[in-house]
Amino acid sequence: MRKTVTLGNGLQIGGDTFAVAAGPCAVESRELLFAVAEAVAAAGASLLRGGAFKPRTSPRSFQGLGEPGLRLLAEASAATGLPVVTEVMDPRDVPLVASYAAVLQVGSRNMQNFPLLREVGRQKKPVLLKRGAAATLEELLLAADYILQEGNENVILCERGVRGFDPQTRYLLDLAAVPVLRQRTELPIIVDPSHGTGDASFVPAMAKAALAAGADGLLIEVHSAPEIALCDGKQALRPADFSELATELRRLVPMFGRRWARAPRDAAWRAPSNGSGSAMSRGSARPSADSAPGSFDDEVIAP
Ligand code: PEP
Ligand code: MN
Repeated sequence: MRKTVTLGNGLQIGGDTFAVAAGPCAVESRELLFAVAEAVAAAGASLLRGGAFKPRTSPRSFQGLGEPGLRLLAEASAATGLPVVTEVMDPRDVPLVASYAAVLQVGSRNMQNFPLLREVGRQKKPVLLKRGAAATLEELLLAADYILQEGNENVILCERGVRGFDPQTRYLLDLAAVPVLRQRTELPIIVDPSHGTGDASFVPAMAKAALAAGADGLLIEVHSAPEIALCDGKQALRPADFSELATELRRLVPMFGRRWARAPRDAAWRAPSNGSGSAMSRGSARPSADSAPGSFDDEVIAP
């Protein structure tokens, strides 16, 4: 039995669902965050992503808005109903970030920050643990073990690419990590094709490949004006492109024996207007039009 991570609003990650977290790399402003949050919610995303504390290679780069950014994320979450996943970098900030976020992200650069791993392990919110850019899968699993050992069993692993030798992509997205990890762990596994490729034009292909490889979901960067983004603009999908990708994924997800994850607090998800609510039952791996999120209940999605 594979482990599932269930968030406070009922959203299930892992098992037979496919969950997509989408949003800007960084929270830059209220306007940007709300525009993107509303767009990704309308497109069927299950979680809102966005960094308030940003791990930047240069100390002169935009470092994130900090706590005001967390407050904006909480407001955008309340407005859209999407739970928030956001990064925590400093063990001292864990209680603060946990008070705003549904899922705490431990970034690639901190995968082996053992005090941070222990600290997120001592609190109850689920943790999204990203693979270090030069970490083996064994090291990723051992890093997850630090969190589990402290008593937090709600860990989601994320493949986000490792250092390669070809500059045509930012990192080398290791999709074989998905079946390898699947053999080794019960934990949910998601893929980040945004950081994994570093280029928005490669994201849709790798997102679909991640689904085919058996991933439990995706982490995708979306920005309404990538050309002026303060962080990672080159790899951000525009909302319309994200929406197109989400539509394609929603058609593909049932073919891989999964259903599109959407929090049950979404009334339309609980009671689709076509009246076939029973097919929404958990555990159904059959392709079904009802595998689409409820917000699309006027749209028939052929398997
Ligand atoms: C992110 O997801 O915002 C991020 C910084 O990613 P990574 O830690 O994988 O570089
Ligand atoms: Mn980023």
